[in-house]
Amino acid sequence: MTEMNDYLRLLFAKAGRTFSPISGKEVKKDEVNDVVKFITQLPKGKKIHIVIPLPKEAEKNVKYYLDDLLQKGFTRLYHIAEKYVIQIEDLLMEEEPTLDMKNMYILIDRLVAKDFEDDELHRVADSIQTGFDETNGDIYLDLEDRTEHFCNRFELDGIRFEEPTPNFFSSNNPYGACPECEGFGQVLGIDPSLVIPNKNLSVHEGAVVCWNGEKMSEWKTAFIYENKNKFPIHKPIRQLNKEEYDLLWNSAHGIDAFFNMVADNLYKIQYRVMQARYRGKTPCTSCGGARIRKDALWVKINDTHIGELLDMPVEKLNEWMKSLTLNDHDQTIAKRILVELETRIQTLLDVGLNYLTLNRTANTLSGGESQRIQLTRVIGSNLTDSLYILDEPSIGLHARDTNRLIKVLKRLRDLGNTVVVVEHDDQIMREADYIIDVGPFASHLGGEIIAAGTYKEILKNKKVSRRNT
Ligand SMILES: [Zn+2]
Repeated sequence: MTEMNDYLRLLFAKAGRTFSPISGKEVKKDEVNDVVKFITQLPKGKKIHIVIPLPKEAEKNVKYYLDDLLQKGFTRLYHIAEKYVIQIEDLLMEEEPTLDMKNMYILIDRLVAKDFEDDELHRVADSIQTGFDETNGDIYLDLEDRTEHFCNRFELDGIRFEEPTPNFFSSNNPYGACPECEGFGQVLGIDPSLVIPNKNLSVHEGAVVCWNGEKMSEWKTAFIYENKNKFPIHKPIRQLNKEEYDLLWNSAHGIDAFFNMVADNLYKIQYRVMQARYRGKTPCTSCGGARIRKDALWVKINDTHIGELLDMPVEKLNEWMKSLTLNDHDQTIAKRILVELETRIQTLLDVGLNYLTLNRTANTLSGGESQRIQLTRVIGSNLTDSLYILDEPSIGLHARDTNRLIKVLKRLRDLGNTVVVVEHDDQIMREADYIIDVGPFASHLGGEIIAAGTYKEILKNKKVSRRNT
């Protein structure tokens, strides 16, 4: 809708931060620049060895492995505990060279901290990149008194995370769409509103309708027996707290278990009928209805994921944007995106769509709503020299919002466009540059031009039709 979704995706790809669902900590990876920066901030005179660990397979055939290292251009190893450097060539002279796998590292480069020249920094950056490439993302800086580890992989808590791109947040794209519901946000499952159609009843009174048959009531009895001290069987469903409601669905004799039993018996026709009766579209539990893969929801800006933003009324989204605090880096890269978003949000507010959420699909919009959204798009694109024809765009608007709509229409005109509006609304007519009044009555009883001119000129004319163009 109005490219807002595209801009939000872009914003999240650029400024979003990924948080591990395990520890809740932010997932970060060290870039070459981060390591270079670290090195330039070390006290001058500090000795630095840039090293990477030996791979496990080095042990199997040491000579073969060392030969291979030489081929690749590595010439030295470094003993991290005893702080000495060995030439690989010297090791190869030995009859049967051995490697202290725990302490021996491949030396990529060594340097002493100082005010580096630009070309020296390039060399350092190259060395670090080489280290990351060779190890699949790990390098160590030995600083004599301590060792610093840098990791170039986007991972935390044993999970390898995806690095956000705009498509990562798109439900229309196979990469971003939630795999459970294929981007629909809903799955076919047991619909709670069919299982418990009347929430004013208690379990005892038969709120769970699938347990009301003669045979199936055994489940109700079993559930009540299982939870006799934990579950209030006389309390209406509406008044259950979350734990009690969860118990009803998830305990050993709960509703979920019941439908699992049904699913196991689908070869019998009565169970197939039963399952069909309670199946409906239910929110996807993987994405919670957000339609995108659940790891995309681990990416947040100011503690909010993109699914929550798409679910917010434009009004709330506007507040969120206003309260957005980004650091300088994010602010710089997101600046243009934020401007585009703000303009569009403002226009949506101007045309009275403050209640709309961005994930409303186009086919659920009324004619007036979708016309006004088109306006937002047009104004965002700054197109000129075009003719726009709108059919009653004010439908469903309050008088206050009609005024804002008029402002938007005028802005469109002032951009160098022609705007033709079919309207009954006198507020809009009053603001028109030129009015053509078609009548005298609606549809086949009309069709004649009754009056034409500015609002003032028309006022002098007594004949005013029901439908005005
Ligand atoms: Zn889903």
